[in-house]
Amino acid sequence: MLEELKQQAYEANMELPARGLVTYTWGNVSAFDRERGLFAIKPSGVPYERLRPEDMVVCDLEGNKVEGELNPSSDMPTHAVLYQRFEGIGGIVHTHSPWATSWAQAGRDIPCYGTTHADYFYGSVPCARELTPEEVEEAYEHNTGVVIAETFAGRDHLAVPAVLCSHHGPFTWGKDAAEAVYHAVVLEEVAKMATRTELVNEQAHPAPQYLQDKHYQRKHGPNAYYGQSK
Ligand code: 13P
Repeated sequence: MLEELKQQAYEANMELPARGLVTYTWGNVSAFDRERGLFAIKPSGVPYERLRPEDMVVCDLEGNKVEGELNPSSDMPTHAVLYQRFEGIGGIVHTHSPWATSWAQAGRDIPCYGTTHADYFYGSVPCARELTPEEVEEAYEHNTGVVIAETFAGRDHLAVPAVLCSHHGPFTWGKDAAEAVYHAVVLEEVAKMATRTELVNEQAHPAPQYLQDKHYQRKHGPNAYYGQSK
């Protein structure tokens, strides 16, 4: 079932080691078929070099395994909540990529210091609040998704397709799994640059709003003109 979706999820997962975003078995990617309400996700703890398309596990939005021999990623319930709560997304990535994770561990939003950031994330990339002991005890991975969704109340999750989970690491998303990986790669670069920006100048301030607007809008706005016309 859903062989094409499994293939998409597999290829997106394999991009993580190829782009230097994961060490050992850290991280996972899923690909979502919104019409069927099912997603294919990496199996838990399987090394990338041994991963095969047929190993992808198919799950529903209630967090049930629907097909697959292996256990799904331990983060599967987080993915399920985000597919439920975030309209218009078709892929999710979680990594422990070191620069983005450093900001997550520091409990800080990543300010938009420049146009590299503004081209992809409209405003700062938020760091979600810490989970309470009860939330961790009750349903840790599910509540991670709930807290991410809470972080985006009043924010556009398509304009900022990334979040930092406190003391944990980043999640990113996109219209499909490949775009979610793309955002994970960009987030890591942006986090690295933001760290160095503060090292070079402790007083560094976010890019002016008009410059952030210009860069985000020329790429994603109604009159976007970046790149080639389709
Ligand atoms: P899984 O192997 O269960 O997907 O876990 C990887 C991970 O990064 C946990 O946060």
